[in-house]
Amino acid sequence: MEFDQIMVRYGEMALKGKNRHKFEQKLQSNLAHKLKKFPLAKVKKTRDRMYILLNGEDPYEVMQTCQEVFGIQSLSFALRTEQDEGKIREAALFAFHDAKQASTFKISAKRTDKTFPIKSQEMNQLLGAHILKNTSNVTVDVHQPDVEIVVEIRQDAVYVTSKKYPGAGGLPVGTTGKTLLLLSGGIDSPVAGYLAMKRGVEVEAIHFHSPPYTSERARQKVMDLAQEMTRFGIKMKVHIIPFTKIQQKIHQEMPEGYSMTIMRRMMLRISEAVAKEQDILSMTTGESLGQVASQTMESMSAINDVTNYPVIRPLVAMDKLDIISISQKIGTYDISIRPYEDCCTVFVPKAPKTRPKKEKAREYESAVDFSEDIKEAVEQRELIELKLQTELKSENEFEDLF
Ligand code: ATP
Ligand code: MG
Repeated sequence: MEFDQIMVRYGEMALKGKNRHKFEQKLQSNLAHKLKKFPLAKVKKTRDRMYILLNGEDPYEVMQTCQEVFGIQSLSFALRTEQDEGKIREAALFAFHDAKQASTFKISAKRTDKTFPIKSQEMNQLLGAHILKNTSNVTVDVHQPDVEIVVEIRQDAVYVTSKKYPGAGGLPVGTTGKTLLLLSGGIDSPVAGYLAMKRGVEVEAIHFHSPPYTSERARQKVMDLAQEMTRFGIKMKVHIIPFTKIQQKIHQEMPEGYSMTIMRRMMLRISEAVAKEQDILSMTTGESLGQVASQTMESMSAINDVTNYPVIRPLVAMDKLDIISISQKIGTYDISIRPYEDCCTVFVPKAPKTRPKKEKAREYESAVDFSEDIKEAVEQRELIELKLQTELKSENEFEDLF
């Protein structure tokens, strides 16, 4: 016996009223993209549910992949069997064994097909007795069971579902608009992008690099981070901005204490111009209050001064340790800690102002014309489009044959 499908539950989406259709469609297509590496698996939508038909793919590998897709609240394995008492018993026992640690259970039979001769309550007792007979140290608990086995008797077949596996939560990526993520090579900005994706936002990235002060390796690191993030976002465009000229100009012509603030203001101006061009309505950064000199309240205010765009800061109130633990969970941490030179660290002043004033920043900037440099940086950007990589599993299976 083997599970032949996975049942997908999407709680929060049900709250979205008229949008529900759009949300379901996005979830279905995101799932289909993620499951490309399992060519036999198919996503199927019925009026009120979604299923993955496994068609022989490994249930546990497919389950793990589905658990990375936003918009899913929980999942269960399911198996389809005939309307035959003996087969239903066998299926219920098999489904119970999926919950390895369970010591209490409950059977919830639902008889949609009223022509089936065994009533739901009778079915509960019958299947409960079968499981008790075939296990040890297990009891029934109808109030707070470790696992609930749902048995649905329909006209076409009987569906038996196993324990609930947690989904990634959130909303399907692509249902709540787009943001432009300022992606550095650090730990924070990939986590900020991940959290935006979790709320259904499609993320496009922008990175500032300053060759030859920053190396090819530093740039590759950012591309690797973006690639890793496609695990959740399916695809990601990355805009690489040549930033050397502007940084040199800041370094030479702006007071040292303000160079950090002014550099960030330039980044936001350029990002806004790119966002406008791409019809993106917000920007996202990995800033977190109080982490470094550039992340004081005064500093954020002085930097934010250059744009009317909403700047989303998902990490603003988070502790560094919590940010690190998310980055480990999503696979970006090991890339982020590779040693590298950041465009900011290369030109970083010895003593950046921790309480910069926006009036001062405006005054310093007004003495030098940056507008052409900003235009040039936007125009000379490089655009790279990344997609979720799907190595077909069959390659491994092929190896096993020899
Ligand atoms: P991170 O870990 O994301 O690098 P950080 O703690 O190092 O963040 P800062 O260096 O102050 O903080 O950067 C704050 C934010 O500014 C970053 O999270 C990122 O969104 C943006 N940023 C910094 N440097 C760059 C860059 N070279 N390209 C794009 N965005 C950048
Ligand atoms: Mg950084």
